[in-house]
Parts: sequence; C-alpha cells; structure tokens
Amino acid sequence: MEKNLNNRTKMVHGGVRRSQYGEVSEGLFLTQGFVYDSAEQAEKRFLEPAEDEFIYARYGNPTIAMFQDRIAALEGAEDAFATASGMAAVSGALCAMVRSGDHIVAARALFGSCLYVLEEVLSRFGVEVTFVDGTDLDQWRSAIRPTTKVIFFETVSNPTLEVIDIAAVSKLAHGVGAKVVVDNVFATPVFSRAISQGADVVVYSATKHIDGQGRTLGGVILGSREFIRETVEPYMKHTGGAMSPFTAWVMLKGLETIELRVRAQAETAQLIAERLTGHEKLHHLIYPGHCTHPQHALAIAQMQQGGTVLSLDIKGGKDAAFTFLNSLEIAIISNNLGDAKSIATHPATTTHQRLPEAQKDALGITDGLIRFSVGLEHPDDLIADILRALDAV
Ligand SMILES: *Cc1c(COP(=O)(O)O)cnc(C)c1O
Repeated sequence: MEKNLNNRTKMVHGGVRRSQYGEVSEGLFLTQGFVYDSAEQAEKRFLEPAEDEFIYARYGNPTIAMFQDRIAALEGAEDAFATASGMAAVSGALCAMVRSGDHIVAARALFGSCLYVLEEVLSRFGVEVTFVDGTDLDQWRSAIRPTTKVIFFETVSNPTLEVIDIAAVSKLAHGVGAKVVVDNVFATPVFSRAISQGADVVVYSATKHIDGQGRTLGGVILGSREFIRETVEPYMKHTGGAMSPFTAWVMLKGLETIELRVRAQAETAQLIAERLTGHEKLHHLIYPGHCTHPQHALAIAQMQQGGTVLSLDIKGGKDAAFTFLNSLEIAIISNNLGDAKSIATHPATTTHQRLPEAQKDALGITDGLIRFSVGLEHPDDLIADILRALDAV
C-alpha cells in the first residue's frame, strides 16, 4: 500500500489480502492450520516460509496478518505482532528482550498487571527493576546504567494522566544502548508519534481504542521488522500468546473507524474539560489537552490532542465519588476505556484497589478520583449527564 496516503485511507484498505472469491469485507480465516499440496511443499514451508505462507495460527494466519499490517501502517512501524491481550503484548515484549542479570528502568505509575510482570515475574528470573517517577528526568538519568537493557513506561499514565517525555527519556536510554518500550494505550494509535519521537517498541492493549466497542481482548507489539521477526516472533510463537483469527477480524473492522471514533472522542473530552474545569464540586479536573494540565505543552507536542480520557477529583471523597457514579444516567460504571460507550471508573476501589495506601497517595489516586473514558455519545448529552451527577453530590 502506498506510504504517503492519509491514515483514514490506510485504515480502510491497509493490509487487505483477498482470496480467490474477491470478498469486499476482510476474510475471516477461522482456521488453525493450512493444507500443503505435497510433502515437499510442507518441508519447504517449514524450512523457510515465504511472505503470506502460513503454517499454524499460533505463528500466523491471513486475518491476523491483515490486522498486523494495518496497525503497523497506522503507527508508522515496520512490523507488528498481534497478541491475545494487552498483557500478552506487554509481557511478551519484555520477556522476549531480557535475560537474567539485565536491568530495567520503569516508571512507577503503571497499569497493575504491568507492575506485576515487572515486580513479581521478571524479578523471579533474575531481572532487576528500578522504578522512577516518570515525569522527573533526573530520576531517569540517575537510574539508567550501562547494564540497563530496557526502559518501560506508559506515555500517559492511568488514571492521573501524567505525560512522560518520550523524546527526552529515549535520548537517555539510547545513550547506554537500552531499548525503549512504551505502553501507549492512553495516547491511542491515532495520536501516537512514539516511534518518530524515539521509542523502539510500542505496545497496545487493542481491547481499548482499537476494538473500541467492548467486544474482544487483544494486543499488539510494534517495532522494527528485525525486532518483531527475530526477537518477538520466536518468543510469542513458542509461548502461545497469539491473537485468535476471530479477534483479529474484529480488530481489523475496528481499525476502519478508529480515526473517526478517537478524534470524535477526543473532541468531546476537550469540550467536557473546558466546561467542567473550575466546577465548584471538583478539586480539579485532569485532562492533558486542557491548559491547566501541568504538562499541557508536552502533551500537545507529543500527541497533538489530549486523548479520550479525563479524570475528575470530586470534593467529598469516596461518598461523593460513589454518589456521582450512581447518578450518571448515560455513562456506565465499568473499567474498560476507549469504548463507544462512556465509562466511569472509581480507581481507588476497583482497578487500583490493591495498591497500598501510601502508593495511592504517591500516585494521586484519591478517594474522590473518577476516571472518565469519553465515548461517542453527543457531547451535549454527556456534559448534561456529568453536570446532573455533580449536582447530586
Ligand atoms: C488495559 C491495559 C493493559 C492490559 O490490556 P488487556 O487487553 O486488558 O490485557 C495494559 N496497559 C494499559 C495502559 C492498559 O490500559
């Protein structure tokens, strides 16, 4: 596919492989295996499969290949490997890269399961991890050492939406030859420029904006062709975290509309932030796209827009936060994000419930904090819903 087409065009046509039937919608190859014309062909394919020659769906499948090519085109990455979930992508990328004795530096504000992989899993295999405050470049500078192999961070943290400077951290990492892996869910593939800003590897939970309609779990690892095919693929294909062809088909259809959905969601998020900033029931509103965000300039430089999620710190703690949640009539109470349906989450009692109190304090996860993932509803209806729920507090 032509490289200089716009993303909206690439997301409709990118990666397509048509069968002999000439189907319009991408074929769902719900097959685990592939038939060889002869024993000789099987032998040859196992020895060295050519492009678009498949062996077994754990290694590759036409529907999965279409999804991988399409998301790689959106991210501006040479190649991609699709995985069973976002966590299969994070753990797969990290485990494929390190060995006993290696050192990782990671930002402290991480998705709980990412923290588990770093703290509990990798440490069991002799990998040392140092955690830093991701927004403080001095902490990165002093934590990175000559033996540091990997740097890992969420470019926009969950749920307090701190923005980490990809270019500056990558420069420090590359100075010692470390590779930079970013979990880019909150930036979204639509606003991400992570690779041109210095990241070596980008991972997504495709469960979020890529599906965007709450149907399937999936993930993807993006990077150079050499990294994906020589480091990631051998690890993933032998350890079993592959995406299913059905999921890949759902994700392909999600990519057709991702530009329209995510841009509309971000525009609504911006409107909500503008309408609600300074509201008397809020300690503050956190949205990287709003000028009151402490790293607003960095957020705009890095992503052009503020993304699809905002956080509200409601005065009155847990009771007020619960009253707010229970008073919403349009937004639903759940814990996904990036969905067509607006979703409100109380991190302190759900997604971040298990964190010790001191760590919640350090991360700014107060009892009044609500994470609000903006959906595709009309902005006027959402603003009215939020204002009504705040009135009830
Ligand atoms: C959801 C999420 C994950 C995990 O993705 P799953 O698809 O649920 O496995 C990892 N990192 C971030 C930032 C997420 O939001």
